[in-house]
Amino acid sequence: MIERKCSKCKIPKPINQFGMDKYRKYGRSYVCKPCAYKNLKSYKEKYPEKRQETMRSWYQRTISARREAHRLWIKNNPREALSKLIPGYSSFHRRVREQRGIPSECDICGSNDLRKAYDWANLTGQYDDIYDYKRMCRSCHQKHDRRAA
Ligand SMILES: [Zn+2]
Ligand SMILES: [Zn+2]
Repeated sequence: MIERKCSKCKIPKPINQFGMDKYRKYGRSYVCKPCAYKNLKSYKEKYPEKRQETMRSWYQRTISARREAHRLWIKNNPREALSKLIPGYSSFHRRVREQRGIPSECDICGSNDLRKAYDWANLTGQYDDIYDYKRMCRSCHQKHDRRAA
């Protein structure tokens, strides 16, 4: 039986008295099991359950706050949010304008009042397909975005 001197208590012990650790020689830890157990105990005393609980709820609060901020951001700045979230979003729109022209009417309400602004609105999320877009006036586009969100 191979023996190893425990790096903690300095007592030589048979290798099977050491916990498994595949990164160490012979696949065993350098610290014997009783010492490893003592280590674990003092770790738990240092970081009691309560502290871990606080950390966990803080983490969850942070996550939900970030989710909420994200949701609001998308709601208030859908165009900006989309162009940040979807790689190439604005370049896809540019391509649609190049290949299908600048929209001057609305395919939804049929308006072609030139005082209004018209956009290419993506329909199903196939941003790279220039035929997945419809001409929309601002108000139809906003309604469309709100339905999609
Ligand atoms: Zn030991
Ligand atoms: Zn319209």
